[in-house]
Amino acid sequence: LVSRKKKPEDTIINIKGATIGDGNAHFVFGPCAVESYEQVAQVAKSVKEKGLTLLRGGAFKPRTSPYDFQGLGFEGLKILKQIADEFGLAVISEIVSPEDIEKAADYIDVIQIGARNMQNFELLKAAGAVNKPVLLKRGIAATIDEFINAAEYIMSQGNGQIILCERGIRTYERATRNTLDITAVPILKQETHLPVFVDVTHSTGRRDLLLPAAKAALAIGADGVMAEVHPDPAVALSDAAQQMDLNQFDQFYKELQASRGVA
Ligand code: PEP
Ligand code: MN
Repeated sequence: LVSRKKKPEDTIINIKGATIGDGNAHFVFGPCAVESYEQVAQVAKSVKEKGLTLLRGGAFKPRTSPYDFQGLGFEGLKILKQIADEFGLAVISEIVSPEDIEKAADYIDVIQIGARNMQNFELLKAAGAVNKPVLLKRGIAATIDEFINAAEYIMSQGNGQIILCERGIRTYERATRNTLDITAVPILKQETHLPVFVDVTHSTGRRDLLLPAAKAALAIGADGVMAEVHPDPAVALSDAAQQMDLNQFDQFYKELQASRGVA
């Protein structure tokens, strides 16, 4: 169902007026984790000022260590809903349990399936059974074929509103957190009719590489870029090393737009 051979024309996904896959670049910025209303509101204000409409923030955080901050759960989703209503933004958040999908759909505009859950087939099927856009991240060690099949699981249940997100894969290279597989973008665009985003934060894990990675993503044909922004990354409860602060965010966005010839 996701194959370009079956459906030659691009799928366009409407998220509160943002038409993902329309040939224009779209952007998803926001904190790694929802920590408080005030923290998300500061980022939301900055996103809004840029004329952007999509905001991310994790409420259920799949952390490597069980002792690390696990997220605010539904409290976090409530904060996102409040922010979405007050700022007129669309919010994206990761859901990790199949039984939470339906309920979560009342709070958020896009359901994110994280890298660690790309082959959680019950979760994929649950996401496929709701009428809500899904942002599906590539698994840490998933081949492109496995990634496409994960999207097929969602679509097989009836939900065709899927955005694929390349977020780096595990290789022997340690200079970056993961290895950004940049050619996955044109391959996914050739093989499927779905929009493709690149998450520059989790792929690189390095603040100094966010801008070049974002430029590369858009140059190679990505439909959008995701990056993490936190009002005070030094005290962030997750991913402190790689989130941009609000000034870095302004600069990043300005330079990215300039590089594309957008004022
Ligand atoms: C995230 O985007 O919040 C996240 C945890 O990313 P990934 O699933 O790609 O590791
Ligand atoms: Mn993160």
